[in-house]
Formats: sequence, structure tokens, C-alpha cells
Amino acid sequence: MMEKRLGDLALEDSKTEYKGKLLHEKDPHSVRAKLILKNIIQGLERLVKRNPDRTLQAFTDGEVAAVIAHEVGHVVARHHVEFLDVLVNKPKLELEADYIGLLLMASAGYNPRIAVELRKNISLSNPGFLKEDHNYPSYEERANSLTQAHVMEQALTIYKESGRNILLT
Ligand SMILES: [Zn+2]
Repeated sequence: MMEKRLGDLALEDSKTEYKGKLLHEKDPHSVRAKLILKNIIQGLERLVKRNPDRTLQAFTDGEVAAVIAHEVGHVVARHHVEFLDVLVNKPKLELEADYIGLLLMASAGYNPRIAVELRKNISLSNPGFLKEDHNYPSYEERANSLTQAHVMEQALTIYKESGRNILLT
């Protein structure tokens, strides 16, 4: 595949460019960056699975940004450490990652309202999805939590201040 070969070439280029400056793969920063990447890929796979009629290309940049920001939110809040604790309130962690993700995407210049729309759409296209799994709040609950006035206002302020909202809507 052409893309694969281009990717390999680009990787070789960066390896030469950053020779001696790369972190060891066991370095905590490398491990953390890899965890973020793994979460992002799994998050995107789940997004496509939940919306069988749409391929990843059919999602807007803002929707993809919302999913990526949520997964980064888990890592920023160090949930991988908290997840080891059986007593931890897992639905609360999801809402927390949603909240951090909302602010992250707004700061990157993506309209935070897209995150709410995305969750509403998933909830409409998959009624009953996750209802049996008490580790996850429902998508309706997640959308409601993001539309709370103080949460959305904070995200919209960050979005406006990002100065990129003219380019990305
Ligand atoms: Zn999550």
C-alpha cells in the first residue's frame, strides 16, 4: 500500500532527524504518550462500531476531535491509575473525561456543542446501548452533564478565546 510505504519513509526520516533525542520506549513520558494513542485508536474504533451506518470518514473533524479529547481526558485525569481501584465510581470517571475532553476540544478550536450533539446522536441511534452496563453513564446523561449552563459556558468561553473558531466550526 502506498500510504504504508510513505508512512515508513516518514518514520525513517524522523528517526534520523531526532537521532539521540528520542525518549527510551520505557520512559514514563513515552509510556504515557503510547497510552494516549492506544486510547484514541480504541475510542475511534468504538465510535465507528456504535454508528454502523457511518465509516470514520463520515464523521466530521469536530466529532473525531470530541472522541480524541475524551480519551486524552482519561489520561490527563490519570484514570488508568484510578481504574485499578475496585471502589472507584466508573460512571463518574466517564463524565470527568467528557468534561476535560470538552475543554480540550474547545481550546483546540472545535465547537464544544459538537460533543453534545455526538452523544445525543449515539443515544438516538443506539437506544438501550450500555443500559445494562453500570460502569457507563447513558449517552443521554452524558449529553445532559455537558449542557449544564456553567460547563457549556466555560467551554464556549475557551472556544471563543482559542481564536481558531473561524476556521473550524
Ligand atoms: Zn471514556
